Amino acid sequence: KVVAKKQQFAVIGLGRFGGSVCKELVKLGNEVLAIDSDEQKVNKYTNIATHAVVADATDEKVLASLGIRNFEKVIVAIGDNIQASILTTLLLKEIGVENVCVKAKNNYHHKVLEKIGADKVVHPETDMGKRIAQQLSDENVIDYIELSDEFSIVELFASAKLEGKSLVELDIRARFGITILAIKNGEEINVSPEPEYKIARGDLLIVIGHNDDIKRFEDQVM
Ligand code: ATP
Ligand code: ATP
Ligand code: CA
Repeated sequence: KVVAKKQQFAVIGLGRFGGSVCKELVKLGNEVLAIDSDEQKVNKYTNIATHAVVADATDEKVLASLGIRNFEKVIVAIGDNIQASILTTLLLKEIGVENVCVKAKNNYHHKVLEKIGADKVVHPETDMGKRIAQQLSDENVIDYIELSDEFSIVELFASAKLEGKSLVELDIRARFGITILAIKNGEEINVSPEPEYKIARGDLLIVIGHNDDIKRFEDQVM
């Protein structure tokens, strides 16, 4: 696993999304300031976050007193109160926070956030729903990364039909235009497999290519 440089984060809003972001950032070794206007929420994070404070993020003076401008990345995870989310984002950008990531509730909210300078806008519910649907609708697909509307990196379990066959024999790149980046088997990972590599039971293929080509590969070979 790549270990990123330790960074200073602030998470505003400790609902399920913000709380989960906060916990994971701490787990990855970062310093995290957790902020919520609800004291009960904050109490749940006093032992998890580096610092946890009760504060109203829509108050400019409060944000200044927390020294929020010194944080490299701030996550705004205020959910239902769209006004508070927008105002907080606006203040953070005005104060000069370099990187502000905001959870959006809907497309209107998203548009406004972009206009006022949010650096990243996320839709955790829709994104997760899409991801789960993808995984459920195709049982070979373990995980995927959407590179664009057309290209993806997909993890596929090799079917029994492929066992013992080499990449050259299957002629995957030439026939389908897709490339196997790596092959995982349990804890082992084989990056850039040789053309002579023979697919084994339990191999997980990490494939990059056009979605149509990946689909064709699955339909014809798997
Ligand atoms: P999730 O679905 O992730 O659980 P949600 O989208 O339902 O969360 P809310 O519960 O509406 O989100 O808001 C997340 C948190 O943001 C709440 O704990 C709430 O107290 C906090 N919050 C709302 N307004 C402010 C504010 N002005 N300043 C700080 N925190 C705020
Ligand atoms: P190419 O232009 O397709 O790379 P090549 O002659 O350089 O052709 P080799 O690397 O020798 O190809 O492999 C022969 C064939 O085996 C490739 O054309 C391709 O179909 C298949 N192959 C080899 N490695 C991979 C891989 N990692 N992913 C998909 N197919 C592969
Ligand atoms: Ca919610």
